[in-house]
Amino acid sequence: MNFKDYIRVIPDYPQPGIRFKDITTLLNNGPAYKAAIDALKEMIKDLKIDLIAGPEARGFVIGAPLAYALGVGFVPIRKSGKLPGEVIEADYALEYGKDKLAMHKDAIQPGQKVLIADDLLATGGTIATSIHLIKELGGDIVGSVFLIELGYLPGREKLNGINVQSLIQYN
Ligand code: 5GP
Repeated sequence: MNFKDYIRVIPDYPQPGIRFKDITTLLNNGPAYKAAIDALKEMIKDLKIDLIAGPEARGFVIGAPLAYALGVGFVPIRKSGKLPGEVIEADYALEYGKDKLAMHKDAIQPGQKVLIADDLLATGGTIATSIHLIKELGGDIVGSVFLIELGYLPGREKLNGINVQSLIQYN
């Protein structure tokens, strides 16, 4: 399956000059969505994983079905103010803008093996911040997996040392 056919590129969203990769067109197609999750599952099959962590909100639509498919837990990484329990927080910069990410303090037990999942790797800011939070909780990061990777941005380099895998690349 050529997964790129299911991604819609929207010019100048959310700001002039950004070519936004809209994944809703892939999610909208049952066989394409299932095939994408199955393909990502295949890419991580040799990793030992206790938990998958994904940042709000599109990280949920990739990370949660992967966690279900593997039979492991899912940990939501959320914007500040959304989680009801005790949290740790960290600031982060996006390709466009900045925000704060939070995790429940008890979401990860020290030494648990955590895979990070998101829809798209751009500058790597979101995932670098996610890594910071997971490490602070004592998690052992076994890698990261993305539906899409923007090869023209330095995301991969920013995650130095972390195994990065992606299904679709734009260069
Ligand atoms: P980064 O932090 O790597 O610069 O940006 C990645 C984050 O921003 C991801 O969580 C992703 O959801 C969002 N993002 C940035 N650009 C795009 C895009 O073109 N398409 C989609 N679907 N998400 C994007």
